[in-house]
Amino acid sequence: MENPTQEFTQSTSSQKHLKLPLKSKDRTQVLQHMTELQKTGANWHDGRTFSLVYHAGDEHTEFLKKAYDLYFHENGLNPGAFPSIKKYEAEVVSMVCDLFHGATAAGTMTSGGSESIMMAVKTYRDYYASLGKTAQPEMILPRTIHPAFCKAAQYFKVKPIYVPVDQQFRADVAATEKAITPNTILIVGSAPAYPHGCMDPIEDLARLAQKHSISMHVDACVGGMSLPFLKKLGHAIPAFDFSIPGVTSISADLHKYGFTAKGASVIVYRSAELRRHQFFITQDWPGGLFASPSMTGTRPAGSIAAAWATFQALGEEGYLKLHQEIMTTAQKFKQGIQELGFKILGNPEMSVFAFTSPEPKEVNIYVVADLMEKKGWHVDRQLAPECIHLMITPAHTASVLHYLADLKEARDYSRAHPELATEGMAALYGMVAQIPDPTMIQQFLYNYMDERYLP
Ligand SMILES: *Cc1c(COP(=O)(O)O)cnc(C)c1O
Repeated sequence: MENPTQEFTQSTSSQKHLKLPLKSKDRTQVLQHMTELQKTGANWHDGRTFSLVYHAGDEHTEFLKKAYDLYFHENGLNPGAFPSIKKYEAEVVSMVCDLFHGATAAGTMTSGGSESIMMAVKTYRDYYASLGKTAQPEMILPRTIHPAFCKAAQYFKVKPIYVPVDQQFRADVAATEKAITPNTILIVGSAPAYPHGCMDPIEDLARLAQKHSISMHVDACVGGMSLPFLKKLGHAIPAFDFSIPGVTSISADLHKYGFTAKGASVIVYRSAELRRHQFFITQDWPGGLFASPSMTGTRPAGSIAAAWATFQALGEEGYLKLHQEIMTTAQKFKQGIQELGFKILGNPEMSVFAFTSPEPKEVNIYVVADLMEKKGWHVDRQLAPECIHLMITPAHTASVLHYLADLKEARDYSRAHPELATEGMAALYGMVAQIPDPTMIQQFLYNYMDERYLP
C-alpha cells in the first residue's frame, strides 16, 4: 500500500451518511490503522490523564485482558447457560456486601455506576409504590451528587430536590431535613462526591432517613473500593456503609478503584426483599420466560469474569498495597499543589480532590488548565467553584514530580499573561462559570451532542 490511510477514506452515499465499505479488508490492516488512530487519545498510560482510566500497572492490565478474553463471547444475560458466570457474579456481589458490613445485604452487578444508580432509584420508586405510596415520589440530593441521579430522576419520574453543601462541600443536614415532605422516598449522600472528593455526613443523613421512615442510598461509586481499605490502612474514614442502621443501599464501581475491566459496578441493598423491586420478569412473552436483573438485556460476561479474577488475584492484601501507594502519591500531589500556592477544596478523605487559585485575578485556574493541556496533561475543569479535578491512581506515582514542575511553570506563565483568560477553553469556561442564563449553555451542549455523531 502506498498510502495506508487512503484505504480508510470512505465515500458518502447521501449528503450525510457513510456507506458501509463495499469490499472486505484485511483484518491485520484494520487493526494497524486503529492502532494509529488510538494514538490521538489522551495519554493515560503515563499518568497524564485523571479520571476516565484506572491503570494499576501493565501486569495487572494484561491479566484483566486475559480474564475478559476468556469469556469474550459468553453472555451474562442467562447464567443458566454459563454457570461459571453465575458463580462469579454471585461471589463478587457477596464479597462487596461483606466489605460493606451488610450481613443480610443482597445485590447485583451492573454495567457501571450510572446503571447502579438508576437501578436504585427505580427500586425505591417501585418499592414505595408497592406500599401504596402513590403520590409523585421525591428524592433529596446534595448539589454535588453525580448527574446519574438527575438522569434517573428524568428516566423514572422521581422528583429531585436539591439541597446545598456547606463550606466543606458536605451535604447540609438541616436543609435536608427541611426538604423532607410526605412524598419523600429517598435521601442520597456520596462517599465521597465526585467533584471535590468530600464525603457527605452519611451518619447524620441516615439518622434523618430512619427518623422519617424513608430510605437512604449511599453513592460510593468512586469510594466503595477504596474507603474500606483506607480505613484498614489507618486513615480517618467516617462510617458510610451498612454498619449505619439507616443506610439501605450502596452503589460501588468496580471499574474505578476496584481496578477491574470497564463495565463493572455493584448495587447492593440491605435486604433481598428490597432487591426484588429491581428485577424485571415476565412470563407472557411468546419467546419464553424472561428475567433480567437490571437495565441491559445481553450483558458482557467478560467484565463479570474480570472482576472476579481481580478479586482473586489482588485479595485484601493486593488492594491494601495499591491503596497505600495511591494515598502516598495523592499526598505528594496535595502537598506540592499547596506549596505552589493553590488551595485544595474541603477536606477530601481519599485520592479524589480538586484545587483552585485563591487569587483568581492573579492566577486564573482555567488558564492554568489550558497551559497544562498544552504540556500534554488531560485536565478536568470544574465549574462551581472554578477548579481543577484530580483523581490519583498508581499510574500517577511516576508522573507526580513532572506534574508539579509543569504546574509551577503554568502558574508563573498565567500570572505573567492575564490576557490568556480570554482565549481557548479558559474563555469558554470563564463564560460558563459567569453566565447565569442556562438556556444558552444547554443549547451549546445539545449542539455538542449532535456534532459528536457527525462522521
Ligand atoms: C463515576 C461516578 C458515578 C457514575 O459511574 P459511571 O460508571 O461513570 O456510570 C456515580 N457516582 C460517582 C460518585 C462517581 O464517581
